Amino acid sequence: MIGRMLVKEVTKVGASHPRLNSGRCIDARQAKEKCGRCQKVCPKGAIVAPQNGRVDWDLCVGCELCTAVCPAEAFSLTADTRAAAQKLLGDGRPSHVVACRQTQAGADMKVWCLGSLRWELLARLALEGRLELIHGDCESCERRGSLACFEATRDRLRDFLGEERYDRLVSIGKREAGEGREVTRREMFGGFFSGMRGKREEEEKQQAEQLSSEIEGVRLSIMRRMDRMEEGEAAYGYVVPGFTEKCWACGICERICPNRAIEMEKRGEEWTVACYPILCTGCGTCGLICPEKAIDGVKPIRLEPGVRRAVIHVNADVCTECGAAVKPGEGHTLCIRCRAKARNKKR
Ligand SMILES: [Zn+2]
Repeated sequence: MIGRMLVKEVTKVGASHPRLNSGRCIDARQAKEKCGRCQKVCPKGAIVAPQNGRVDWDLCVGCELCTAVCPAEAFSLTADTRAAAQKLLGDGRPSHVVACRQTQAGADMKVWCLGSLRWELLARLALEGRLELIHGDCESCERRGSLACFEATRDRLRDFLGEERYDRLVSIGKREAGEGREVTRREMFGGFFSGMRGKREEEEKQQAEQLSSEIEGVRLSIMRRMDRMEEGEAAYGYVVPGFTEKCWACGICERICPNRAIEMEKRGEEWTVACYPILCTGCGTCGLICPEKAIDGVKPIRLEPGVRRAVIHVNADVCTECGAAVKPGEGHTLCIRCRAKARNKKR
C-alpha cells in the first residue's frame, strides 16, 4: 500500500519532461522524407515541429515515448528516468525489476509504460545479470496505444542479445500487488531527490551539452561491458547502413550522420567506409540523403565482443592530384575540387 502511495506521489511531483535537441532530428537534417515518429506516438499531441524545436511542453505528461521511438535520439530522457537508471546501473546487484506504473507490483524502477524505455537501456540492465519486466493488464489499459512501442523494443532487445542470451537474461510477465520485492522509501526517493536537489535545470542542461546523446553513453557502457565478456560468447546484433556497390565514398553521409557512425577512410590507394555499429542508431538519415542512392536502408550485423567497426570497401577512383575519392566511370582523374581549381587556373 505504501509502495502504491509513493508511486502516486512521485508521478504527481515528477513534472520533468524529455529534452529535445532539434539538431539531431532527422527532419532537420533532410527534407526528402518526413519522419514524424515522435508526433505519431505522443499521446497528447504536444510535439508541433520537432525539426524547429517546437514542442508544447505544458501538454507533456512525461511518458517518454518520444525518446523511445526517435531513431536519431533527438529526445533525451527525463531527469527522473536518467537518475533512476543511473542508480540501477551502478548498484552492482545481479538482477533488476522494471515495471509500468499501472501495476502495483514492487519494482526497482517504474515507467509510464514499458514501451517508454529504449532497448539500449534495457540491454544494459540485462547485461548486469538479469532483467525482469513487469506489466499490468495491457489489453484493457488506457495506455495500450504504446504497446506497439514495447513490442518493437522487445524485438530489438532480443535481436541484440540473441535468442539464447535473451531467454537467459530477460523475462516479461504480469505480477500482482504484494508479489515480488517492494520498493523501499529510500530506493524510491533516493535518485529522485538527488536529481531534484540544487540547480536541477542547470545540471540537466550541462549533462545534455556534454554528451551528443545520453543513449550514446549507454551504448559505450554496453561496449565496455561486452569487452569483459568471455570469449566464445555469442555475437551481438547491431545495425549499420546498408552500403551497396554504388557508393564511391563521396562523404555526404559522413557529414550528415547525427551519430558520427560513418567514416570515409583511405587505406593505401583504396577508399573504404568504416561504420561504427555501437554509434549507429539505424536512423537511416544517411540513406535518405545519399545522392547516389547507394545506401539501402539499414542492415543487421552481428558483432563479436571487442570488435568496434565494420569496414566496407567501396568502388571509387582516386584523385591524382589530392587523393580524394572520385566517382568512377565518368572519365575523371581529378576530384570535383581539383577540377574546379584547374578551371580557375586556365582563366
Ligand atoms: Zn583532388
